[in-house]
Amino acid sequence: MTTWWAARAVVDGSAHDRVVIEAAGGVITRIDSDTDAPSDARVLAGAVIPGAVNAHSHAFHRVLRSRTHRGRDSFWSWRDQMYAAAAVLDPESYRGLARAVFAEMLEAGYTAVGEFHYLHHAPGGATYADPNEMSHALAAAAEEVGIRLVLLDTLYLAGGPGVAPDATQVRFSDGSAEAWAERTSALSTSGLVTHGLAVHSVRAVPPEAIAVAAAVARERGVPLHAHVSEQPRENDESRAAYGRTPVELLRDAGALGSDFTAVHATHLTNTDIAELGGSHVCVCATTERDLADGIGPIPALREAGAMLCLGSDSHAVIDPFEEARAIELDERLGSRRRGTFTGEELLGVMTTGGASALGLPDAGLAVGAPADFIEVATSSVRLAGHDQAALADAIVYAAAPADVRTVVVAGIERVRDGAHISVDTAVELDRSIRQVTGT
Ligand SMILES: [Zn+2]
Repeated sequence: MTTWWAARAVVDGSAHDRVVIEAAGGVITRIDSDTDAPSDARVLAGAVIPGAVNAHSHAFHRVLRSRTHRGRDSFWSWRDQMYAAAAVLDPESYRGLARAVFAEMLEAGYTAVGEFHYLHHAPGGATYADPNEMSHALAAAAEEVGIRLVLLDTLYLAGGPGVAPDATQVRFSDGSAEAWAERTSALSTSGLVTHGLAVHSVRAVPPEAIAVAAAVARERGVPLHAHVSEQPRENDESRAAYGRTPVELLRDAGALGSDFTAVHATHLTNTDIAELGGSHVCVCATTERDLADGIGPIPALREAGAMLCLGSDSHAVIDPFEEARAIELDERLGSRRRGTFTGEELLGVMTTGGASALGLPDAGLAVGAPADFIEVATSSVRLAGHDQAALADAIVYAAAPADVRTVVVAGIERVRDGAHISVDTAVELDRSIRQVTGT
């Protein structure tokens, strides 16, 4: 058993003082407030909150940071640069890169990540001796650094409606939904790693294959994710090829529901918004900004009943606080209205929303919940002088990854004093990114 004592903590959405947290076997076994620190407790001077959940990640996109932001290019030319990185990764370099990126996420306050993984096969499309070798590389990376991983094995079959995969995309394809289902049936849960499934997008997967994927996910009882309507061009292509929007295609394939997550959901019709009411929607605000995607109809989706979560997606930024406040701040820019989302609500999007989308147990601080939590320094230059009666607002609107002092996953401290306990994150990032980019 391990015991922590925190000066403050957010429990059930509200701030408590002098909180004792005990964990055993990876779960919280005791949580009490207004208590003196036990003599054997690790004392945390800041505020403890549940760990942030990154519901949408492509770890290898991290190599693009600072290399793709300039110029007047588009999502589609950005994608060409991303494909150049995808073309050179092998299991060893993929593992090294993911290890460093997952360590960066931990240091930023994410305790769990949903990795939307489609880099399945060798360059040229050949199958590795173990067809799941690239998945195993991600799982090993997560276990090594101690982040909870939901590996969303992604179905990817086409370069567009009726278009065969190109030279890069053949690495992503299993050739058929049935072959993908067969390959992914060999994936097993262990330690910090569980599995879910994904359909890349209606661009990359034809309707009949989406129906197969939805049926397989239901049968296995795992979450299903898909990129949805990130760009208007995707909607135009879907309408031209199938006479329906991407959301309508997903609905007709039986994909929508409480175990489904629509990633982005930026360009939607009113019908699309109503259809997504029973599903999750993953907002990836910093990536959507970077790629000039637009601002999604997030308040309308919430109104329709969609459950919100967030993801750092392309890792232009890895910062759960920025990702959370961006939902409200981008909405202010678009609507010229303030106060659509409260700080408490955004903290929920950052934590429990992501856990729900990834099929993880509730991410709150409670007895029986996974012991996944972080300590945010409340005395930093960013939070100094904050309103003590509005702790959630202070954290969501002012905190930064530099304020994350301690990160606990499954009851074990992975980050202490702001640094990963066993990974020199900046050194490993630098080495693995230069290896992939050759610069
Ligand atoms: Zn994505």
